[in-house]
Amino acid sequence: MQTIRGFRDILPETIGLWQKVEKEATQLFEAFGFSEIRIPILEKTELFARSIGEATDIVEKEMYTFEDRKGDKLTLRPEATASIVRSYVQHKMYASDPVRKFFMTGPMFRRERPQKGRYRQFYQIDAEVFGIDSPYIDSQLILILHELFKRLGLTGLSAHINSLGCPDCRPAYQKALLEFLESKKETLCENCLRRMDKNPLRILDCKVIECKGALMDAPSTLDHLCPACTDHFETVKRTLEIQGVDFMVDKTLVRGLDYYTRTAWEIQTTTLGAQSAVAGGGRYDKLVAELGGPPTPAIGFAIGFDRLVEVLEQIEAPKEKPLDLFIVSLGDTAVEKAYLWSCELNRNNVRTELDFRGKSMKALMKRADKLKASYVLIAGENELAQNTVLLRNMATTEQVSLKLDHLVLDLIRIIKK
Ligand code: AMP
Repeated sequence: MQTIRGFRDILPETIGLWQKVEKEATQLFEAFGFSEIRIPILEKTELFARSIGEATDIVEKEMYTFEDRKGDKLTLRPEATASIVRSYVQHKMYASDPVRKFFMTGPMFRRERPQKGRYRQFYQIDAEVFGIDSPYIDSQLILILHELFKRLGLTGLSAHINSLGCPDCRPAYQKALLEFLESKKETLCENCLRRMDKNPLRILDCKVIECKGALMDAPSTLDHLCPACTDHFETVKRTLEIQGVDFMVDKTLVRGLDYYTRTAWEIQTTTLGAQSAVAGGGRYDKLVAELGGPPTPAIGFAIGFDRLVEVLEQIEAPKEKPLDLFIVSLGDTAVEKAYLWSCELNRNNVRTELDFRGKSMKALMKRADKLKASYVLIAGENELAQNTVLLRNMATTEQVSLKLDHLVLDLIRIIKK
């Protein structure tokens, strides 16, 4: 049996980097006032269709959707924002305090064409802020990403930022865009032509080479922003500059989902080839109301966890956790004693292993080496007959004889020194 195409196991050998990222991210989010939220993997299909948008790649062709036994249409979540908004509205969180900051980590599912950096089950680290329309929050979220990547030792990343405007300035922009698109109709792909009526902004995201070429001179949202959106974007840029966060304004950046307004961004790396985006985010001030809540500004981002780990793998090997102690036990009595000591040590956070297979001294010493044990405890029949054991420091090869009375306490004292 094999995993399904686009699905994969994250094996213990590589888990160290995943845990390191998760630890750094949690610490950072908590310092910035975020609380963890956990949401279901399965939701009603309608939630994603309504929020992400019918005319998007995700909803049109990438969702894992099926009917359950009662005929309800369900979908494996392709992203987290929609579910977190659903949760915010469902639990009326806005009633007690509209300002909420959440983070979460977990698997997402999209039926894309698998390749390096692109999987059908992939993981995201997600952050969302509700109830704050200030541009300082847009800036702060980009700063958090910058800080996290800095703490992880990553270089060569750049933030591409854009403003997508708001319902006040979008219509004028959409009109200018449609006029431009009409003039390019001959060159655009079928998908783009279909989207002209439904969602022309989406066309700017088309990956077909001919479309990309035709869209080079497309009008930019930035030239059509209303004064409020312009001010908002200026504050974001100014504060990022003051805080030394590198960014570039990218007028072609529209992001693949319908719900974005105002600031949108993507963090790109040069080290992953085609799949260059390691994180993306944006403001979605209308979504809470669209999903049945009171008008509430909101903004968030998602980090591609798999891709982030792939970038990290290029700069550091995952660290194995070294073993504190390996017990070499020779003879049945010794094995049982070793088992009891090892459990006691494990309960005291000393990483201890032993071997139950009755192997020779030589084989057991080899195993201790393989496990990179810092110490080896040798419990042979001769030693035990004298109520002692030998403790060997593998780095210095020094050996000391220890009495069996208070053995576990002595070991903890020596090993944890
Ligand atoms: P999005 O939710 O599309 O804005 O994606 C946010 C981030 O998730 C992207 O920048 C990628 O790093 C990551 N991502 C999206 N789709 C995939 C995928 N199929 N496989 C791996 N990572 C992905």
